[in-house]
Amino acid sequence: MIPAEVAPDSLRVSRVLTATEAEGPGRRTAIWVQGCTIRCRGCFNPHMWAADGATVVPVREWTASLLDAARAARVEGITLLGGEPFEQAAPLAYVASAAREQGVSVMTFTGYEYRDLLAWSDTRADIRALLENTDLLADGPYEADNLDPTRPWIGSTNQQLRALTGRYRHLDFVTTPDRLEIRVDADGSVAVNGWQALDALDELLEGLGTRADRPRTR
Ligand code: SF4
Repeated sequence: MIPAEVAPDSLRVSRVLTATEAEGPGRRTAIWVQGCTIRCRGCFNPHMWAADGATVVPVREWTASLLDAARAARVEGITLLGGEPFEQAAPLAYVASAAREQGVSVMTFTGYEYRDLLAWSDTRADIRALLENTDLLADGPYEADNLDPTRPWIGSTNQQLRALTGRYRHLDFVTTPDRLEIRVDADGSVAVNGWQALDALDELLEGLGTRADRPRTR
């Protein structure tokens, strides 16, 4: 359970993918939240920087239906990314806590560094609650000049993968394969998630149509 002083009300969500194998260990529901003030150069999701836009949802009702869909899709966990999850720490702590109460694991991506989050958590119950309800944390800003070609899910060598609970302590973050998913909808639009360098993505998607027809998600 999350502490009483963390009182979630609404959450600003950019995108949900009910089942993916490209955003963390196993099959997961990925939730991209809206708003990020970190603004890394080369970020794949600059359309998720603005604090307004996207969709505001009532967090309790939305979480219940999200977890119903996740269970139906037989996922092992949810992944929080964006956007910056710790800039909406209170509602996401609620989402993460509700997931873990149902045995669903939680992976959280953040552009902040773990040591800073820990320091802030002394006075910020919402940050503390989201950290306490995260099983696997990917932390640190994306550095376009320091691409990481070896570890899964993350983009640059400065970023760290940390098992904050025992749930994923067994994982080998060096030999676990990275994944890239490409979805083609019935209307012909193409969506990409997972991780790949921009040049390699451009090469991969060459011939699929104009860039305006290819929303990129991370
Ligand atoms: S990479 Fe992540 S932390 Fe960095 S600007 Fe993009 S959304 Fe924000």
